[in-house]
Amino acid sequence: MEGAMVLRRFLMFAGCLLWSAVVTADWYTDEQAIMGTVIRTELWSDDPLTAAEAIMLVNEEMHRIDRLMSTYKPDSEISRVNRDAAENPVRISAELLDLLARGIEMSRLSHGAFDITYASVGQMYDFRAGVRPDEKQINAILPAIDYRFVELDPAERTVSFARPGVRIDLGGIAKGYAVERGVGILRGQGIEHGLVSAGGDSRVLGDRRGAPWIVGVRDPRNSDWVVARLPLIDEAISTSGDYERFFEEDGVRYHHIISPVTGHSAGEVRSVTIIGPNATMTDGLSTSVFVMGVQDGLQLIDSLDDFEAVIVDKHGQLHQSDGFLPPKK
Ligand code: ADP
Ligand code: MG
Repeated sequence: MEGAMVLRRFLMFAGCLLWSAVVTADWYTDEQAIMGTVIRTELWSDDPLTAAEAIMLVNEEMHRIDRLMSTYKPDSEISRVNRDAAENPVRISAELLDLLARGIEMSRLSHGAFDITYASVGQMYDFRAGVRPDEKQINAILPAIDYRFVELDPAERTVSFARPGVRIDLGGIAKGYAVERGVGILRGQGIEHGLVSAGGDSRVLGDRRGAPWIVGVRDPRNSDWVVARLPLIDEAISTSGDYERFFEEDGVRYHHIISPVTGHSAGEVRSVTIIGPNATMTDGLSTSVFVMGVQDGLQLIDSLDDFEAVIVDKHGQLHQSDGFLPPKK
């Protein structure tokens, strides 16, 4: 009698599980304010617990990267480097060393348009508060901007600055790196379809179950409009825009992408979108091409396999890299 009860209960329980498994195979979405932006995770899973665990691990990773790379946190590893590296070599984690090396590599690739030492002048801007350096301050600090001043010693795992006044900031690749790591975590949890985005940087995992992910490129002057829709499968996409963080003064737009040559906001284009196989690269390239402008920027992208670009120039005109154009006859 009792055995039958137990058996019946077990069957009901098993039935519930089966039933819940059928109805909960679904898309799960999460948004968090981390790294000064919105971290969005989307994934397909047939188990709510697996989904929740994966999302939690992605968010934890974002916090970890923020603690490593935020120049706003005085105790971050990068803040320690900025404080001490002009005085003596600073020992850093293998991860930060690798990221600094990738930042320097991006400088070489972009002929100096991308430069983590832009921060020597960059730190004088506060786009939220509407603060900017004057011409005299810019001219005084320009000589401290050159990625060659960042000296890495992989054997000792140290970084030093070749002269005083140098500051570095990995903001041009940090979010791309973060979403790349986020998607790696989803993959490690057995997820096959997903997306992680951090503001303008996204990486998709797999397709959207039978169809590509569609990511819109917004009109830089009207957030309700899109200028292009890009279908993506297992790819990264990054947009750099002059509308992300800016203020206006006497009709001039001061925004967060700085030319290492002039110390002013780069003004040739309004937005750059790059797609490619790796989010750290698409992030760095979108910032680079933004500084380089249409002609040099497209030349760089067309010289790279697997990367494509859509640019909205300062007149609102759309430009595309070769891979987006119809094949030449
Ligand atoms: P976001 O996704 O934050 O809008 P972007 O990819 O558009 O980032 O890059 C802008 C960020 O890159 C800035 O906030 C700053 O941290 C950094 N940055 C600005 N100018 C340069 C530059 N010339 N080289 C490298 N990094 C830069
Ligand atoms: Mg970027």
